[in-house]
Amino acid sequence: MEVVETCAEMSRLSWSSDRPLGLVPTMGALHEGHLSLVQRARADNQTLAASIFVNPTQFGPNEDFARYPRSLQRDLELLDAEGTDLVFVPPPHEVYPDGFDTWVEPGSVAEGMEGAARPGHFRGVATVVAKLFTIIRPDRAYFGQKDGQQVAVIRKMNADLNLGVDVVTMPTIREPDGLALSSRNAYLTSDERETAPAVYRALCAAEDVWRRGERDAGRIQRAAHNILGREPLIDAVDYVSIVDADTMQPVETVHDGRPVMIAVAVRVGTVRLIDNVTKL
Ligand code: AMP
Repeated sequence: MEVVETCAEMSRLSWSSDRPLGLVPTMGALHEGHLSLVQRARADNQTLAASIFVNPTQFGPNEDFARYPRSLQRDLELLDAEGTDLVFVPPPHEVYPDGFDTWVEPGSVAEGMEGAARPGHFRGVATVVAKLFTIIRPDRAYFGQKDGQQVAVIRKMNADLNLGVDVVTMPTIREPDGLALSSRNAYLTSDERETAPAVYRALCAAEDVWRRGERDAGRIQRAAHNILGREPLIDAVDYVSIVDADTMQPVETVHDGRPVMIAVAVRVGTVRLIDNVTKL
């Protein structure tokens, strides 16, 4: 496994690698969710590349960039054990040199939900992913449905800018109690950790009312709110949204055959948890 810190060296190695080349972009602190992407990418491609980069431009000024968990040595061991060929671990100034001043600005797909709660977040995500696609030129790139709006933003950017990457979405990996794996779960206190599965229970409750025939988005959302409202350690529900699975625009009625995503974001203490279910 080659561990590469510069854009020039990463391009040199990846452009001359056996194809197809699959890329798994991450911010590190790897868990089974990340590894499910790595395993699929390993199986699909001749060359497997991963990146570990805690991207400063996708964090707001009052967010957790400084304390985001970092465990580089362990991450490299895990990637090596999965048969990764190339790992890109650039320092921030390699990606954003002095004077960097060009951005990828996603449109309406990035306006609601996480885009509304975290101004500038998806501009940072789209810009860094565009740069990774350009530096590495993967044939395929793998993303988790856990960050459902992020996948929609990347798919739209990839199409609108003709980047030509096959974007593969992988299912959300969960703890046995339903909590979606996330590097940020490490911030939870033990009480908060006990509360956290309520997010997935709320999504399941919403899905359940839909299965029983409810098609009004407001009433489906209410089922989720009822579960979340019972949890004293949930300090705020940022949103419960039902959106078109591609455009991320809110829907009022869930029509059969038109996929939607039900997405939740809550705050538990200092931790923000997001999750979603799709394909209703
Ligand atoms: P991150 O390191 O949080 O930027 O995540 C890197 C990639 O792993 C993203 O495409 C995430 O959507 C994906 N990912 C994170 N958590 C999970 C999970 N629990 N299941 C599946 N994919 C995940």
